[in-house]
Amino acid sequence: MDHRLLEIIACPVCNGKLYYSQDKQELICKVDNLAFPFKENIPVLLETEARTLDPEESFS
Ligand SMILES: [Zn+2]
Repeated sequence: MDHRLLEIIACPVCNGKLYYSQDKQELICKVDNLAFPFKENIPVLLETEARTLDPEESFS
């Protein structure tokens, strides 16, 4: 994942900062508890494609 990309992309729901989860290959919004997937190395920043994080998942 290109880290420069992380600086320019934002959560489509709250417009906040996204965190990259290397484990799961997802982009995490802690505000909305959403995880956005990658498709062919392109982040899919669509609320409809995101999954809701389980409460026990933490990305501190
Ligand atoms: Zn958000």
